[in-house]
Amino acid sequence: MSVKERIERLKKDKGATILAHNYCSEEVQDVADFVGDSLALAIKAKEIEEPMIVFCGVTFMAESAKILNPGKKVVMPEPDAVCPMANMCTSSQLDEVREKDPDAVIIGYVNTSADAKSRMDICCTSANSVKVVMSAEEGNVLFVPDRNLGSNVSESCGRAMDLWEGFCPTHQAFTRQMVEDMKARYPEATVMAHPECRPEVARMADMVGSTSQMLQFAKDSDAQEFIVLTEMGLGHRLRRDSPAKVFHFPHVAICPPMKMTDLRSVLRALEEEGPEVVIDADVMDAARRPLERMVAIR
Ligand code: SF4
Repeated sequence: MSVKERIERLKKDKGATILAHNYCSEEVQDVADFVGDSLALAIKAKEIEEPMIVFCGVTFMAESAKILNPGKKVVMPEPDAVCPMANMCTSSQLDEVREKDPDAVIIGYVNTSADAKSRMDICCTSANSVKVVMSAEEGNVLFVPDRNLGSNVSESCGRAMDLWEGFCPTHQAFTRQMVEDMKARYPEATVMAHPECRPEVARMADMVGSTSQMLQFAKDSDAQEFIVLTEMGLGHRLRRDSPAKVFHFPHVAICPPMKMTDLRSVLRALEEEGPEVVIDADVMDAARRPLERMVAIR
């Protein structure tokens, strides 16, 4: 029996649902029951009725699944797959912010640890960040940890915010020069950019959106060729959803933690029903409110 067949068999036997992010490798996306961006995965995780969730992605996503559906066993094939941006803002740093300004509204990108989320007022993903920021109460808003996303959102909705100094190393690597070179090479291409890109890069794009929004845009668009400024794992779904269209990614568009999960580690996680995502009960309770507020805004 192939690894893929063994995964299929164990999935049924154990009542497991496999969730995978759009940036995962093609082989992992192909065995998943549901593939999506952070918002879609969080919404899906909340609805799952099977007893076990196998989460393929990075740790903050698996933690969010556990917090939103605490009765399920959530296992992660690669528990060391950590988003570097999620380590750029800690709960103790947010405690210091609160001490200085107790009324500050803290909006946190979902790319943060459960511990940091427990100190936030509301979370957002790249798919609903503009709506979340627009919904924030009057007062000083601090957006953490992604300065690029914060700056792009602030620009598109005209709301001033204090920005944390975090960033995604993968999207930060895309420069104006790189995009200019790609545009020169593919002059007919429509440019789609993820809002984790630097603001000066996002401004060069024809559309700025989350990975799900890019998938929809590419399907609906009359354009036949695209430059895609995000992680190249998205290419798998773009090509499947729009097989007649052509997609070009920057050569540096790779997120190493997202590529850690492979079929062998998915199989092992199913066999061993672990490693399991375990979060302190108080942290889970405190982090649930900002996450629930996030999934309510679509
Ligand atoms: S692409 Fe960037 S933000 Fe997303 S998981 Fe990788 S490092 Fe984190």
